[in-house]
Amino acid sequence: MRFVADGMLGKLARWLRLAGHDVIYIGKLNLPSEKQDEEMLEIASKEKGVLLTADVVLHKRATKSGLKSILIRETEIAKQLVEISRRLGKRIEIVPENSRCPICNGPLTSVEKNAINNVVPEKVLIANDSFWRCTDCRKIYWKGKHWKNIIETMNQYENMMK
Ligand SMILES: [Zn+2]
Repeated sequence: MRFVADGMLGKLARWLRLAGHDVIYIGKLNLPSEKQDEEMLEIASKEKGVLLTADVVLHKRATKSGLKSILIRETEIAKQLVEISRRLGKRIEIVPENSRCPICNGPLTSVEKNAINNVVPEKVLIANDSFWRCTDCRKIYWKGKHWKNIIETMNQYENMMK
């Protein structure tokens, strides 16, 4: 699924990429907010992406003009991911095998530990067995503490909603 995230949702954009989704994130444009909204709507329409926005006005404008839009009300990242899952009727899963690079949106591929000896700090090499590399910018990823925390919080929150 392709998303177009508004400038306030940079962190969410990075996590959706980790969850394997194609996310267009253009950050804060140096435009008056009216112009910025128009730009966002144009991109969402051109790229056929689901607009993600925390802005009620923009959300209403998007749905009025026939675009798919999800209004993000939550502020915590794990809750935002659950919020999107519910709106899509499809769980957002963070599985590294399907991930995209949170920095550049490139696809990740699994990489052997001994191929990255000199790239990753030794204590990270010792603590982890699986690593992934971005095929575009070459950045290395592993399931760090932050990753585990988000998945745990998502599970807790989903259970709470049941
Ligand atoms: Zn990358």
